Amino acid sequence: MATTARIGLAGLGTMGSALALNIAEKGFPVAVWNRNTAHITEVIEEAGPLRDALVPSETLEELVAAIAPPRAIIIMVKAGAPVFETIEKLVPLLDEGDTLIDAGNADFNDTRATEKRLREKGIHFIGMGVSGGEDGARHGPSIMVGGDASAYEPIRDIIEAIAATYEGDPCAARLGPDGAGHFVKTVHNGIEYADMELIAEAYGLMRKGQGKSPAEIAEVFGRWNGGRLQSYLCEITEKVLSATDPETGKPAVDVIVDEAGQKGTGRWTLIEALKLGQSASTIEAAVAARSWSAMSGLRGEGSKVFGEADGPAPTLPEDDLGRALLAARILAYGQGFLLLKAASDEFGWDIDLARVAEIWRAGCIIRSSLLDDIAAAIRDGLPEGALHLAPAFREPLVNGAPALRQVVTQSVAAGLPATGFASALSYFDSMRQARGTADLIQGLRDFFGRHGFERVGAEGVHHGPWWD
Ligand code: NDP
Repeated sequence: MATTARIGLAGLGTMGSALALNIAEKGFPVAVWNRNTAHITEVIEEAGPLRDALVPSETLEELVAAIAPPRAIIIMVKAGAPVFETIEKLVPLLDEGDTLIDAGNADFNDTRATEKRLREKGIHFIGMGVSGGEDGARHGPSIMVGGDASAYEPIRDIIEAIAATYEGDPCAARLGPDGAGHFVKTVHNGIEYADMELIAEAYGLMRKGQGKSPAEIAEVFGRWNGGRLQSYLCEITEKVLSATDPETGKPAVDVIVDEAGQKGTGRWTLIEALKLGQSASTIEAAVAARSWSAMSGLRGEGSKVFGEADGPAPTLPEDDLGRALLAARILAYGQGFLLLKAASDEFGWDIDLARVAEIWRAGCIIRSSLLDDIAAAIRDGLPEGALHLAPAFREPLVNGAPALRQVVTQSVAAGLPATGFASALSYFDSMRQARGTADLIQGLRDFFGRHGFERVGAEGVHHGPWWD
């Protein structure tokens, strides 16, 4: 077999086949392999004129042989064990200086371990987060790369060519070594969870609390999308809410079972946040809400025993709800960026946080006009690394906080859950208390466990008078 390909791609599922076509379309010959070989033929047949740039490989040996050395192979198979299995099968076929790229979602701890293990064998390993779903992978995703600069440089032209662009700037960057790319992708997804939860709660307030129809709420999201809430998620919320189910003629959203899972990335964000001494409470709220949603049997029982929401209907006007959504979104993104900063400090990644915001401006699921403001605010220098303290966000937070408070109080009064909004508000209120209530917590700990505490204006460890 001739070594005609610039790069290889193992795994032609939803994302892999879209990425392969994207690479081929940008003029890079790509060798492709899939476990189920019938699928290789299907992808080649459906590739139309792009098929000439695809090199079908029925075995991993053929795949490796088809790529010009030093080889780079993107692995885009089901996350977890299938990735490890594919790596194990490929490694004996590779030479020193070759590069494997895991482009799926991965626990960054695994990425770090694999990078270290393969480095000892002279093989580079890149952990590459890809966001944008199938359409993004096909036409331009946001790409978050972690790994050695020396491994990324030879493939940078391909990665930048297939990425989305924002005003000509490719939404792809090497963000740091080993697990940095997969960590940033994980937090991206965590923010995505929070953003979707806030959108769903705003929908719930209008639908259940104010009796608006999905079509009416779709129009609200359409109007919001024309302003400071402009984002892909608001745009598709309008589309989903305005769709009609062809079978029943009902709003499409009403024929969807209201249960959402929480797969790896949301949970990983929380686990890593806690390990780093952080609390991404808005993301936690979103994960919690999804977990509760999955308990539909219990919810059904609960509605019979306690009845559904029966408090006074929220009176909040659309503009105030929009202001609250923007404020909560800023706070949620802020928690995500603090988490990125904490991880970057802990692992010595030196992540350029402004660059993260920049490569999220197009291609990825959380793309929004807010990210351009966030990138500019970080470039201007964030006080304490905290987005909510940036001068650019003072106005939307000062104006949005009273509306956010109204969303929470009116939801509580109505009996509607507002887990995400309430978490964002409590975070905001906590972060503007110069003196909070942890003094009492430390006093209690000293009382029952003689743990000691720091005393205001004094050095050393102190105990309370209860020990005299
Ligand atoms: P699909 O389910 O569409 O495809 C899975 C692929 O994995 C198939 O090619 C399948 O091969 C292959 N595979 C499964 N098990 C094995 C195995 N043991 N050995 C070799 N190959 C195996 O998945 P996606 O394309 O959606 O996802 C791929 C990765 O991308 C995942 O990490 C996912 O989290 C991530 N991702 C997905 C997004 C999306 O929107 N779908 C967005 C961003 C990231 P076969 O055909 O033989 O079964």
